[in-house]
Amino acid sequence: MTIPHLATRILATLGPASNSRDMIKTLALEGASAFRLNFSHGTQDMHKDTYNHIRDVAKELDRPITILADLQGPKLRISTIAEGIVLNIGDQFTFDDQDIIGDQHRVYLPHPEIFDAILPGHRMLVNDGNLQFTVTSVETGKIITTVDAGGAISDRKGVNVPDVPLKISPLTEKDLADLDFALDLGVDWVALSFVQHVTDVVEARAIVKDRAALMVKVEKPAALEELDDLIRACDGIMIARGDLGVELPPETVPGIQKEITYACRRIGKPVIVATQMLESMITHHTPTRAEASDVATAVSSGVDCVMLSAETAAGQYPAEAVAMMRRIIETTEARTGYASSIALKPVDAHNTYHAVASSATQLASGIGAVCIVGFSSTGTTGVRLSRERPDLPIYMITPSQQSRQRLGFTWGITSILSEHFDSFDDALQAISSLLLNNTDCQSGDTVVVVAGTPFGVAGSTNTIRVLTLK
Ligand code: PGA
Ligand code: MN
Repeated sequence: MTIPHLATRILATLGPASNSRDMIKTLALEGASAFRLNFSHGTQDMHKDTYNHIRDVAKELDRPITILADLQGPKLRISTIAEGIVLNIGDQFTFDDQDIIGDQHRVYLPHPEIFDAILPGHRMLVNDGNLQFTVTSVETGKIITTVDAGGAISDRKGVNVPDVPLKISPLTEKDLADLDFALDLGVDWVALSFVQHVTDVVEARAIVKDRAALMVKVEKPAALEELDDLIRACDGIMIARGDLGVELPPETVPGIQKEITYACRRIGKPVIVATQMLESMITHHTPTRAEASDVATAVSSGVDCVMLSAETAAGQYPAEAVAMMRRIIETTEARTGYASSIALKPVDAHNTYHAVASSATQLASGIGAVCIVGFSSTGTTGVRLSRERPDLPIYMITPSQQSRQRLGFTWGITSILSEHFDSFDDALQAISSLLLNNTDCQSGDTVVVVAGTPFGVAGSTNTIRVLTLK
């Protein structure tokens, strides 16, 4: 089996169905370029084993694999409730601040901040929105509701309060401990769940510093109010459609997905579409046609990466799900019209670095170059070249294994590990042998090279050079 090259990346969530070394290797060979450790489930010891397996597999396959630690965040949950409770439309039901075992009439809700903020008329949703309640009155320590959509209710189900902006930090005590643990392991990216404000990202960045890249999961309506600032403050965005589609009406999610995708592409940060992409493959060999279409639609809109959740973490067909996603991506990318469907419009190049990347891309196609090559220690120049979605391979040459591992969510980049160069001239000396040894490029080919000079100043994409390989 050869390792497929996909411009659009696949992020696969690992869990009991897939966290063995063998299965991780299979998923990587099927096309996953990145794996998610979901800290909402499992123990730190389990995540450590999984982490080590991934690094092992990457070494064996001799290619970078990206590891994302996804923190649980302030996920709200009810406490325990007696077995077999079913609520019916019109029932009165109380969320209580007393630590009792729940019953037909009430349940303990261990989140005082909700009691402080909720008002009559607000909605409360339980179990991914399957159960719906409207608050009729709020008394000390009691939120009294009427059931609007009933069903079975059981222990520790998730709670959403979409009408209430809660004063909660996105980093709970558990998150802080998990974050410490994940950074010590050496994960490449950290994802923050239920982010509401830019200050949430600033708070996390102060802890993470440059030890990992930061991803913001957009799954709260409040995040949409500060979208552009959030995108600028982080290194990548996940469109977390699961919780977003509970907090907001599901019919609004497709439009929001488009908006977020466009905003990320314009600003130039990787964007991942997540949740329920091939949901029926949790229990079936093949996806529904609607699911195949959902993946293809995301790919055609030029997203950087698509994610599998329970399909690979807990489903019956993890390898088949990744293989199916790869085939949908390959087929969609091979279609005539793909390049024009992902073209960025209108081109917004008010920054020198975007303008340089855009000019380099136009220059490369104008002179018949075989590829575009970026030099970068941090990988930033690579991300900027990717933003242009060129119709040519992008090679990112970097001396940093960590930078290579951070590029697993970025559209269309192949990275090449090099020695450290002191200057652009030294790097140019080495370029022919690096490309001839690591790519399909041949002697006599023309390439366009982009870099930031002087070398060693992060983020200064300012130089274009045309070279003939020898
Ligand atoms: P989760 O995030 O799988 O961690 O909940 C993704 C989502 O909400 O869509
Ligand atoms: Mn979520």
